[in-house]
Amino acid sequence: MADLDSFRTGTRAWLEANCPAEMREPIRSEADLCWGGRNWTFQSDAQRQWLEAMAERGWTIPDWPKDYGGGGLSPEEAGVLKSEMQRIGARPPLTSFGISMLGPALLKFGTEEQKRHYLPQIARGEIRWCQGYSEPGAGSDLAGLQTKAEADFDEALGEYWLVNGQKVWTSYADKADWIFCLVRTSTESKQGGISFLLFDMQTPGVSTKPILLISGSSPFCETFFDDVKVPKGQIVGEVNKGWDVAKYLLGHEREMISGMGLGGGGSLGAAMKPKDPMLRAEIAAFDVDALAFAAMSERFAAMWKAGEAHPASPSMMKYAGTELNKRRNELVMAAGGSDALDWDSERSKSGKAPRDWLRSKGNSIEGGTSEIQLNIVAKHILGLPGA
Ligand SMILES: Cc1cc2nc3c(=O)[nH]c(=O)nc-3n(C[C@H](O)[C@H](O)[C@H](O)COP(=O)(O)OP(=O)(O)OC[C@H]3O[C@@H](n4cnc5c(N)ncnc54)[C@H](O)[C@@H]3O)c2cc1C
Repeated sequence: MADLDSFRTGTRAWLEANCPAEMREPIRSEADLCWGGRNWTFQSDAQRQWLEAMAERGWTIPDWPKDYGGGGLSPEEAGVLKSEMQRIGARPPLTSFGISMLGPALLKFGTEEQKRHYLPQIARGEIRWCQGYSEPGAGSDLAGLQTKAEADFDEALGEYWLVNGQKVWTSYADKADWIFCLVRTSTESKQGGISFLLFDMQTPGVSTKPILLISGSSPFCETFFDDVKVPKGQIVGEVNKGWDVAKYLLGHEREMISGMGLGGGGSLGAAMKPKDPMLRAEIAAFDVDALAFAAMSERFAAMWKAGEAHPASPSMMKYAGTELNKRRNELVMAAGGSDALDWDSERSKSGKAPRDWLRSKGNSIEGGTSEIQLNIVAKHILGLPGA
């Protein structure tokens, strides 16, 4: 306890000295997040300083081992760091699919060489990743994917995989440096013919086409692979056993997405007081559910980190958190009335409310739809027969 108290004191002093004032302001939009990567343009000196200072300590990912660029903190210490950051309103120094998705999969399935190569670059924000899972004919039925990787050889590369096919809904593919990608290496078995490959998005034969969304932004792409040559060693886990890696990563992705349910932490009732008593009652009921979700989420996070959570529990959390976030956004729009539809005036902070509302619709689709999460909970947690 005394050790933890002195860790808190030291952490508080360090954050006071190193977290720039600008990085303590609330995140106004997606543009305030720092994604890092080789093409990243920092929004300000403060954003760069904050990332560098945190990465130097391994605190962009406090609980990874120090050897792999993390902070080597115990779960208790990581909890203290999180609460001290929340106390001063510090923004996350880095938002990264490498941290929330690929990293945990590499820690479990990667070779020592892969861990030492990729993880420190992820922790320092030097490499931005995208996720090549969904295809035009494979979303909920992900194991139906058809992008093909065939073993081949040439003098320059030695043994390599020749990749051909198409992905869709690849978030930030046009901005990413590398992709973690599911490919079919055998047609003999559906799940048992999938492998998990990593490759550079600048490899010849990779191209992307952004898809414009209703919210006005274009965060995801169609991604095409035409005779892309991927060195043989860039596979994670064993050939034809990529489904295990894919499912493990999805658990971490769902855990990350479930955090949407926390919605920044504040009470909706305290932030808005509409005249309509029915709406006020709905907001009060929402606040009660949000508090219950926050408590459940804390318990789940501790169990998940300790490896004690049911493997299907991220599905339960993802379902609850994303449905809650959609409800929050509906209530914000209802309470704001027609003013809430203001799309681009200074007063509306450039349409934050309607943009967030439209974006929230995707929460219960990305990372697997709500229906699929309910199927998983029914089968694996409640023990009901499969459909
Ligand atoms: C914001 C956002 C970001 C995304 N980013 C990425 C990304 O970076 N990389 C990536 O690979 N993918 C990404 N996706 C794609 C996402 O994973 C898929 O959209 C999702 O898995 C659903 O697949 P689908 O769109 O093909 O829908 P479908 O699978 O065609 O589903 C259509 C409808 O049928 C329902 N349905 C299907 N099967 C069943 C069933 N067995 N039981 C009950 N209902 C069923 C679904 O719930 C859904 O309502 C993203 C999606 C969104 C919205």
